[in-house]
This record gives sequence, C-alpha cells and structure tokens, in this order.
Amino acid sequence: MKSYMRLIICMFLIVILAAGTCTAAEDNNLSDKLFQVALLQSLMQGEYDGMLSVGDLKTFGDTGIGTFQGVNGELIALDGKIYRAIWDGSVEIAPDDETVPFANVTFFDADVTKENVNAASIEELKEILTSTAAENGRNQFYMAKVTGKMSSITVRSELVQEKPYKPLNEALKTDQREFSYEDIDGTVVALYCPDYMDGLNTPGWHLHFISSDGKKGGHVLTLSVKDCKLEMDVISEFAMIIPNRESFNEKDLATDMKKAIEEVEVKN
Ligand SMILES: [Zn+2]
Repeated sequence: MKSYMRLIICMFLIVILAAGTCTAAEDNNLSDKLFQVALLQSLMQGEYDGMLSVGDLKTFGDTGIGTFQGVNGELIALDGKIYRAIWDGSVEIAPDDETVPFANVTFFDADVTKENVNAASIEELKEILTSTAAENGRNQFYMAKVTGKMSSITVRSELVQEKPYKPLNEALKTDQREFSYEDIDGTVVALYCPDYMDGLNTPGWHLHFISSDGKKGGHVLTLSVKDCKLEMDVISEFAMIIPNRESFNEKDLATDMKKAIEEVEVKN
C-alpha cells in the first residue's frame, strides 16, 4: 500500500513538472532564435566585408535575408538553401566559402498560417503582416514566408562595391539595378523587427524574394500578390555576432540612420 501511494505521488509530480516545462516553452518559443550577423547600421556605414561564411550561417538557420561580401548581391535563405541575387538579375546558390557582412536567419517553423492572402501593394501586404504579428504579440520577432503567385513584383540588387566603401544609401544611388516581373511563382521571405530594434536593425518589415525555379530574386521594392499562403514564425530569442576589427570598432554606431535606412528600403 505504501509503495502504491508513493507511485501515485511520484506520477502526480511528474505530471506537474511536465506541465510546467510545457508552459515555459510555449510562452517563450525557446526553440526559435533569430540570429543576426552585425548591425544594419554598420552595413549602412559601409561595413561590407564579410565576417561569417555562408556554410557557417546555415548552422544558425535555414530561412532569412542578408547580403554578401562587398554587397555582392541580395541574400535569400529558404529551405536551407542560400541564394544570391546579383546585379544583373540572375540568381545562383551561394558557395559555402562566400562570406556575409549582414544577415538574419532562423530555423523556420510555421506557428501561424493564413491562406488566400491578397494584397494590391507592398504597403497592403505589410499591413496584413503587421496585423498578423500584432495578433501574436507586436514585440516578438517574426520571420514570414508568403508563397504563391506574385501578380507583379519589382526587386533590386546592386553592383559589387570596391574599397573604399561608400555608405549604402550613396552606393545605391548609382549602383542599384531593378527588375520587374509579372505572374511569377515564388516566395517572399520577410523579417519583422519590433520597435526597440531601432539601433541594431530597422523596426518593421524587410522583404526579399526568390522565384520557385530559383532563377530570379532580390530585395522587394513593390509587389502585388494573389491567393498566396502566409506562414509566420513567432520568435522570442535573439542572438547577434559583431566583427572585432578596426573598421567596425571605429564606426559611430550611435548615429541616427533612420533616414538613410528608409532610402535603401523603399522604392525612390
Ligand atoms: Zn534587402
């Protein structure tokens, strides 16, 4: 009888402990971590030399956005592949020994799914993404995938930069190249940073695109989408690595770069 009681008490404790662990994990999405390479603000100031290899970046996530050594193309990570969309509109799989000066990746899992998403403009799509994020907590990070047919989309990439590096908003004035497509199947990979990320990245959404054949892509400037599927990963953990080198350490990263960031994010 005694051992029977002990067994019951034991089982009761196990149930309580398991329930406790479960709640903590659900509250914090501890399996989901956003990994960031350097700051958007350092990239904006011309810190274009890569600090992490593509091969190493893949160990921190399978989905995300970024750029390459010398701003040599837009980075789109999707399903564990890292694509590079370069200045002439073409896309290749980035080699593992290529390096990255700025990126955000996560191991994607769809916590939220919505079907039949329609948006006539990038602003409208961002509103849908933002309201979906708000429903799940506006102060979390989000990685989103919008998959299906883009009725229209304009993406950009840029010419590779040579030293001495100019600030990104200066470089893009002459070196940005834009490409427009209609009725193209693919995936928009979008990152959401909450308002408090002002000094490390930029609050709101940043969208990159890769076509389903992996041949076209870039940083999204405008788009319209029809009956697309939206998946969102709610992320409650953030990690960042920064380069330890002179060019990085001498930069004034307290400078307010909002205006310059806005210039490079949207269509001018
Ligand atoms: Zn971009």
